[in-house]
Amino acid sequence: MEPQRDNNTVVSDMCNNHLPKADALLPPESGGNEGRSGRGKMLTTYSLWNLFRNCRRACALRYLQGLVPVEPDSNLSFGSLIHECLALWHGERNLEKVLEHINQAYPNAAQDEEQKKTWHLAIAMMTGYAARYPQEDFQIVALNKLFGGKIINPATGASSRSFVLAGKVNGIVQIGDEFFLLEHKTTSQLDVTEKLWADFQIILYAWYVREVLKIPIVGIIYDILVKAKLQQGKGETEAEFEARRAELLAKSKTGKTSAQRKLPESDEEFQERLRIKYGEPEMFFRQKFYIPESRYEVLKSELWELTQNFLIARRKGYFYQNTAFCFHFQTPCAYYPLCSADNAAAVIENNYRTVDPHEELKAAQDMDTEFLEKLRIYPEQFKKAA
Ligand code: SF4
Repeated sequence: MEPQRDNNTVVSDMCNNHLPKADALLPPESGGNEGRSGRGKMLTTYSLWNLFRNCRRACALRYLQGLVPVEPDSNLSFGSLIHECLALWHGERNLEKVLEHINQAYPNAAQDEEQKKTWHLAIAMMTGYAARYPQEDFQIVALNKLFGGKIINPATGASSRSFVLAGKVNGIVQIGDEFFLLEHKTTSQLDVTEKLWADFQIILYAWYVREVLKIPIVGIIYDILVKAKLQQGKGETEAEFEARRAELLAKSKTGKTSAQRKLPESDEEFQERLRIKYGEPEMFFRQKFYIPESRYEVLKSELWELTQNFLIARRKGYFYQNTAFCFHFQTPCAYYPLCSADNAAAVIENNYRTVDPHEELKAAQDMDTEFLEKLRIYPEQFKKAA
């Protein structure tokens, strides 16, 4: 049956003209034509299904056409780096090694202002984190653990003939005889905990870890790291100082001022300010949740529904837009230039590059390839991603 479209969804023939039909969008290595060419099941991730739910067009552009903006998203890059640092830290608890990893990630921090800004933040965040948690009350069971599993129809118990799901969990930890997923989150907001209950991804992953890896996960420990908003002081130019001085003199009853030119803040001074900031309790905090069984049932049903809708969209070659999502994160969607352009080919050439479908699976340290092969996941997908 044709899926219901909600009021926020705009279907545009004009916009669909910008894209080739779905068959043409499918790279051979995506395994996306499974069922017709018999190349194996299509490997999917939470990110794919989440994007499909939010905007089908964005999902097709990212996962079928493999397009990403030429300029990487700096927030995503920072988050990935911190995740790597946290895996290093929890693996070896060697801060020196973690800081060296950050130095290597920003080789031009001395000359490049953008790199320097992020380098400062990453160094201060990880130094503060190590100081905040010198000991842990949990034991690490696995880090960056990759899993792959079938997608099950909850009504019949049959597995999908078209898709499998793979993902990577930040950590699996044990407290007493209970197992939890350890989920790191870097954020600029302090009020994230209210939104955590709706975290579709982590609950889905918890279910797969239980079913596939046979580790009886009972809940999640969210490990929140807040991004400090402090900026390194730039100091004043001679002209700025003179203007400020003149203003102070004009207001002064004695006709004098002791004002001095503000000099740029040194790296050491800025790191010290950041260190003090990261000593504040709200900059790192953890929240433990137990997952009620009922949440698993809802998520399994929703995932299945998404697969069925994806099959319909793929069969019709029609991934419609959801324009209500274009500015969802207060900034334009990565595909806004493409969706709003008349000449899609030129926009693609100038603004986008092509990548493997599931980059987030890169660097998984513990890949259970035997298991994945049993699932008939097209092996090149993982070779490319690893
Ligand atoms: S710009 Fe809007 S319609 Fe286009 S892909 Fe992004 S969210 Fe979807």
